Amino acid sequence: MGIKATIVVLGGDGIGPEVTREGVRALQAIASRYGHEFTFSEHVIGGAAIDETQSALPAKTLSACGTADAVLLGAVGGPKWSDPKAKIRPEQGLLALRKGLNLFANLRPVTIHPALLDVSPLKPEVLRGTDIMVVRELTGGIYFGEKRRTEDFASDLCTYSVEEVTRVTRVAGRLAQGRRKRIVSVDKANVLETSRLWRATVEAVLGAEFPDVELEHMLVDSAAMHLIRKPSSFDVILTENMFGDILTDEASMLAGSLGLLPSASLGAGKLGVYEPIHGSAPDIAGQGIANPYATMLSAAMLLRHSLGLNEEAAAVEKAVAASISAGVRTADIAAGGAVASTSNAGEAVVSRLLG
Ligand code: NAD
Repeated sequence: MGIKATIVVLGGDGIGPEVTREGVRALQAIASRYGHEFTFSEHVIGGAAIDETQSALPAKTLSACGTADAVLLGAVGGPKWSDPKAKIRPEQGLLALRKGLNLFANLRPVTIHPALLDVSPLKPEVLRGTDIMVVRELTGGIYFGEKRRTEDFASDLCTYSVEEVTRVTRVAGRLAQGRRKRIVSVDKANVLETSRLWRATVEAVLGAEFPDVELEHMLVDSAAMHLIRKPSSFDVILTENMFGDILTDEASMLAGSLGLLPSASLGAGKLGVYEPIHGSAPDIAGQGIANPYATMLSAAMLLRHSLGLNEEAAAVEKAVAASISAGVRTADIAAGGAVASTSNAGEAVVSRLLG
């Protein structure tokens, strides 16, 4: 039985619209192959929204997202809007969207296609077998605490409540149960009070609700080192907002290109925002050469987490992997071989989905 779903598409700026176009094509191919009915509606966010409405997240965009089943997003930002003195900035649109939809858990899977082991700056023998899911708390911690500033003093307050830690731990617990059942919880409990609360809460929630999941605590400095030394030893990494921000960028280098890695931001319900982890890449925008795989893999996460379509999600992931294996590589991962355009790469995935 096919399902009906409304998907909001926020192309954003730079290469955003170029890569979301391919993400939508993958979703359309899935709808046609499996008999689903997906309705797409496009809205503005970021710089494009500032140009049009003087707001990085117009009320119309937020309300369309709030009533949709899922949101597929490209990226925001670019030199046109990067004046440090500007009051309205594109990134505010993203933060407001996450906050407005109460998306407190950010999921970033990092896997490495065997054919791309040579694209990463790390040695193939270090990378082989790497399959990590990072779960980052997204709406708490130091980024959202009270900020104070005088001429010769500044402070950023870091706060966490048991409830905030509990809900993101549950997301990590559920994911771990569907994987290798191991969570490394990353904190700085030797110095930070918030980390001690984090550690105690993670332990209590996993102990009571996910007794089959093995838990290890790791200090963030040590985690940063182990991610490079032995990335294949991790299954799920659970961490707070700022540590997650830094560790996910570090982990992204394992895969070799930002153009390969998807993400999902989830809340308490089914609604989620799905986007590649890369930015708007103004240096290559408009040239039709951006790698669309990260966005297509984000579309796969959308199918799995918001629409509950696991088989369809796996089909997209398989089609992307098969396209890479067949040598369909955009410039960022070409490694001297033939170079595919954004639409060549999108077409390779779509034809495998429909074929
Ligand atoms: P970026 O991720 O846009 O680009 C970094 C480098 O990676 C560039 O050389 C770019 O060409 C390359 N790259 C990125 N995505 C690619 C893809 N799909 N295919 C091929 N190559 C790709 O990061 P940046 O240059 O630091 O930032 C550019 C703009 O994007 C800034 O305005 C920044 O604020 C914004 N940004 C937005 C997001 C977001 O929307 N979530 C995230 C990061 C940066």
